[in-house]
Amino acid sequence: MKPLLTDYSKEEIAELPLLRDMPSYRATQIYKWLTAGTGFEEMSNLPIPLRERLSETYDDIGARIIKVAKSKDGTEKFLYELRDGALVEGVLMTYRYGRTLCVSTQAGCRMGCAFCASGRDGLRRNLSAGEIFSELLCANGRINDGRIGNVVLMGSGEPLDNYDNVTKFIRFMSESGLVGQRSVSLSTCGLTDGIRALADDGFSVTLCLSLHSPFDDRRVTVMPTARRYKVADIMDAARYYFSVSGRRIIVEYALMRGFNTRDADARELRRLTADFPCHINLIPLNDTDSGLSGVTAKEARAFLDKLTALGASATIRRSLGDDIEGACGQLKRRYLEHSLTEDKDNG
Ligand code: SAH
Repeated sequence: MKPLLTDYSKEEIAELPLLRDMPSYRATQIYKWLTAGTGFEEMSNLPIPLRERLSETYDDIGARIIKVAKSKDGTEKFLYELRDGALVEGVLMTYRYGRTLCVSTQAGCRMGCAFCASGRDGLRRNLSAGEIFSELLCANGRINDGRIGNVVLMGSGEPLDNYDNVTKFIRFMSESGLVGQRSVSLSTCGLTDGIRALADDGFSVTLCLSLHSPFDDRRVTVMPTARRYKVADIMDAARYYFSVSGRRIIVEYALMRGFNTRDADARELRRLTADFPCHINLIPLNDTDSGLSGVTAKEARAFLDKLTALGASATIRRSLGDDIEGACGQLKRRYLEHSLTEDKDNG
């Protein structure tokens, strides 16, 4: 496979051997086109021989959208195909204040959370920085008025299990001026070394922790990573991230009936988050045939009230795209199941 030019930083593009004898503005032109999601052939202010040499040597975009599901509420879900045929998903949400894209950082995932569809088949591979960036560029390409203002790393994959590529991607977004760090949220199941590294490397993205239970012995029954990463250590790492970055922490908590909605859960959740700025996001569980069930709107409200009464800052996350396989990994599974059935029908 050819090297992917979206994997190169601005400086790296300036140093391409192919541009050695050319005026330095060529690199700037190429970079501008690339970050606008434009392929080599359409880079209209470059001489045609240069466009040809670029496409002989490099690939321009590392992902393409092969399927779009549109929700009644305006949410769009994309299925991206990477150059080697790996599939990942993205979701574009439109809010009053702008557009948010949810990107995938790995094809599959090896964290094995019981309720999550993304990791059912394990990890296929990490995405490169340029591939993740390509998800954003393709999605921006579909928008006629304006562009994506916020990015959440909440698609398939565990971002901190692919640290180097993910952090390079975050730098690409800010370097290109497309999305600044304060408009980026990174969600992790709690890899403490990665959280500390983010702080030490000077990142200021919003850190979201997938906690789902404040008790290790319960958490481990749905999140295998809890064997290694204890709640107390995750909260310590989050405190450290806050102390270095100054950014409030978001705790993600998918409400599951009979699992994490008792008074004791609310009390412990409050205790864990009381001594530094944290906001708790209660998430309606998307059904993924996991055997775990979500809660009614009334039950969610009751748990929210418990937390609020204890002094916690908490909200229930609005659910978007319910009618289009909203949960992680579902569109891809449906697509694969469908094409497998088609293959069978055809053969
Ligand atoms: N690996 C990262 C990011 C990916 S998932 C992480 O664990 O945080 C983004 C969020 O969606 C996580 O909080 C994850 O726990 C949650 N999630 C996964 N499957 C879900 C489901 N079926 N219903 C609700 N939330 C889910």
